[in-house]
Amino acid sequence: MEYGLRAKPRQPAAFDAPQVGTFLHYLLEHVTADVLKRGGFAQVEETELRELTTYYIRRYMEQELRNFQGRGARFKYLFARLRNTAWAVVEQVAEEMRHSDFVPLEFELSFGDGGTLPAVVVSEPDAQLRIGGKVDRVDGWVKDGKLYLRVVDYKSGRKSFDLAAVRMGLDIQMLLYLFALQKEGAQHFGHEIEPAGVLYLPARDEILSAERNIPPEKLRREREKQLRRSGLLLSDPEVLQAMEHESLQEPHFLPVRVGKDGSISGSIASAARLGKLGRYVDKLVRQIGREVRQGNIDADPCCHSEEDSYCQYCDWAPACHFQDGRDGDHLRYILPVKPEEFWDELEREDEEGGDK
Ligand code: SF4
Repeated sequence: MEYGLRAKPRQPAAFDAPQVGTFLHYLLEHVTADVLKRGGFAQVEETELRELTTYYIRRYMEQELRNFQGRGARFKYLFARLRNTAWAVVEQVAEEMRHSDFVPLEFELSFGDGGTLPAVVVSEPDAQLRIGGKVDRVDGWVKDGKLYLRVVDYKSGRKSFDLAAVRMGLDIQMLLYLFALQKEGAQHFGHEIEPAGVLYLPARDEILSAERNIPPEKLRREREKQLRRSGLLLSDPEVLQAMEHESLQEPHFLPVRVGKDGSISGSIASAARLGKLGRYVDKLVRQIGREVRQGNIDADPCCHSEEDSYCQYCDWAPACHFQDGRDGDHLRYILPVKPEEFWDELEREDEEGGDK
């Protein structure tokens, strides 16, 4: 309904999660772009960063929220509370970037008609599928003439990157754009491109439950835990170190772990595995394209459990009438998968070379 009919759900008057996400996106984009003009996060003092953040919060209030005209007291209260979250998110991004050689190269990079880059095109002998969209941020680092790119998505919800979902053909947009950049981005960026990974960056209104007299350092660690990124990164130690200087000893931001023997584990994959993942994503998109052309628009919702099914919160439920267990309606469960199982499966499929 959303993409076919371009229907829009009713908007409540409160400052809800999507609006929080829009505001935090706005703030991160503008503050980061300004900081880069001033030489990068390492050159900008904390007080300057606060001033800049305050400036853009005020600008958002004036321009986007028209100084709260027509808004109630609750809206104002929620927005005031959100300011503290906004500072924490911006400061965390600043802290991460101060410890990184990767630099934001693009914000809201769009693919498709009127976009910065052409649509992602999947060609079949008798048809062509064109995919448009945008990514929140693209960071890059140049090494030996190659530009390593990572795609960053600001997440206002609790969603994290999950191979089990990818296995079901879900949440593949960031990967799709990452591999599209590898294939088509050289001209735009002026370098041969190597995919360095995808990251979900939490940008949400997080209320921590902690004791009143919690020491500031402990509070910082707790917040750091809440704001830890998820994703999938190239396992090359040099690249990981460029992303976060301490990643091979004590990572704070990246979804990687360091063993006592110095071994690196977590959400990482070799270049060969990322290559296979790229082919898998391509296959998935072709399959989706074929199904759409064949007129298959069946309601086919996936979930981890009945309680977390998208149908519970779906704006279109009253029109869709999906009911698990009735006639042909069935929820598809996202079953957990261990990373090694996922990669083994992918490798088998890649060797067989067949379509999904
Ligand atoms: S109610 Fe469920 S099946 Fe129907 S559109 Fe929403 S998420 Fe999909």
